[in-house]
Amino acid sequence: MTSFLEFAKICSRIEEISSSLEMTSIVAGFFKEVSDEELPIVTRFIMGHIFPVWSKEELGIGPNLLYSAIAKTSSLPVKRIEEFVRDTGDIGLAAEKAITSGKAHLNLFSEGELSIKEVYLRFRKIAGLTGKGSQDAKIKNLQYLFSSAKPLEIVYLARLSIEELRIGVGEGIVRDAIAEAFDVPSELVERGYMLTNDFGQVAFTAKKEGEPGLSRLGVLINRPLKMMLAQIALGIKEAVEEMGTVAVEWKFDGVRVQIHKEGSNITIYSRKLEDVTSSLPDIAKAVRTNVSADSVILDGEAVAIGKDKRPMAFQEILRRFRRKYDISATAIEIPLHLNLFDILYLNGDTLIDAPLSKRRKKLEEICDKSIVAKQAVTSDTALIEAIYKEALAAGHEGVMLKNPDSFYTPGKRGKNWLKLKPIMETLDLVVIGGEWGEGRRANLIGSYLLACRDPDTDRFLSIGRVATGITDEQLAELTNLLKNLVVSESGIHVELEPKIVFEVAFEEIQKSPNYDSGYALRFPRLVNVRSDKSVEDADSIDRIEQLYAVQKGK
Ligand code: AMP
Repeated sequence: MTSFLEFAKICSRIEEISSSLEMTSIVAGFFKEVSDEELPIVTRFIMGHIFPVWSKEELGIGPNLLYSAIAKTSSLPVKRIEEFVRDTGDIGLAAEKAITSGKAHLNLFSEGELSIKEVYLRFRKIAGLTGKGSQDAKIKNLQYLFSSAKPLEIVYLARLSIEELRIGVGEGIVRDAIAEAFDVPSELVERGYMLTNDFGQVAFTAKKEGEPGLSRLGVLINRPLKMMLAQIALGIKEAVEEMGTVAVEWKFDGVRVQIHKEGSNITIYSRKLEDVTSSLPDIAKAVRTNVSADSVILDGEAVAIGKDKRPMAFQEILRRFRRKYDISATAIEIPLHLNLFDILYLNGDTLIDAPLSKRRKKLEEICDKSIVAKQAVTSDTALIEAIYKEALAAGHEGVMLKNPDSFYTPGKRGKNWLKLKPIMETLDLVVIGGEWGEGRRANLIGSYLLACRDPDTDRFLSIGRVATGITDEQLAELTNLLKNLVVSESGIHVELEPKIVFEVAFEEIQKSPNYDSGYALRFPRLVNVRSDKSVEDADSIDRIEQLYAVQKGK
């Protein structure tokens, strides 16, 4: 039986290194060391998860509950715990500091050893607590864990309990560590993960059954797969050049649904893999009456249709997701229409390794065409342009351009699915820094650090860098302009007086620990230098938060 202290030591060693190769080999060594029973648990723990992603089990511990548990264990007031968090910038270190310095510490760390399994079972117990009094019971269980833990264990217990381990071990490292530990190809580990959505199961299979076992893994009904994602298309011509023939579909303005049907049992999963069946009875009914297959997994978009027959804002549909009661009344209020565009499994056969053209044939065979998204397979750019315009005119987002020969790659944002849509939002951001270029661009400031305003403190909060969308001519002009604003320089980095506003287009806002704002932009590109705007006119952190919330709802 491996102690939790062993796990904590591994985490702390990993935290001190930055080479992912080294991290991988430490994790691989640990995977080899632990027992069969512990292996699935540690594969999840090391990524900061307690349960597999597909599992319905949820810990339900937020920062407040955790602070209370630390306060109770240490006999310190919650205010003090908050101060520790502020001082250390980390809940794990704050918990350790609080509990070891608190009054109660004399009674602690005396006897016994926490095992990994014990920690896992305790977390399961916590996840199972619901209803009245459950908050107190959760706190008590956390207190038990903290009081049985040694200082180093406290750090990682606290972080695990809010499922943020922060040691930099992500999917890539775990994949490679499983491959290294059990001497199996990392592509097979990756495939197993795509299918089962659970590294725990993949690691166990690799250990016990090796390569043949991993090859046998398949898609399972009621085990949702991550959804395949799309990249932005550069343009219609470029997509046709790349793919030759393109499968074109409308990009519907709705919400993604993955539907698992087994006999008359239907389960609908959201993009976040949550079970949303109870919110979507009309979608379940549409599948029941229009799909003639016994067991099948389907992928598509549910669209809310308004009185004018146009799609309604997706917030409307999300309202349905959240609504637990009175579903039938809402269903009448907002009828949903299903547009299926993929099939991942049919009557025992995993289809994700079949080309899209073949999957599409199967989809058409078993579904009534009223619930299948229309698709044109063509290399005619004029036709694609016409479909794009038609989709926009109908109130949808644009078109998807898919490679007919491509496989379904769960969770991947690849070049086989391209989305073409007009750019909607831009942000006005302040240039607060830059980097001198290299080679031909050595005398030019080529990459710009951008920031939004914090109206509360009047400070500028960094949000990312932009280096795309800038012509050579513009670079020279900008460098001339910005040279006079340099406050300090270190290596290639320059800090600039905040004076210039860039209008920046982007694909998505993401949470990011790398920038002061806590957010980063995906694919930022310069649209315009807004010499007509002052830095006071730049967008504030509030707008970023709003845009993020809207997009996250999707
Ligand atoms: P985005 O959310 O902008 O990354 O675009 C990808 C999303 O478009 C998918 O997750 C689906 O929810 C949605 N979508 C709408 N129509 C389609 C379609 N025909 N094929 C694939 N995804 C679609």
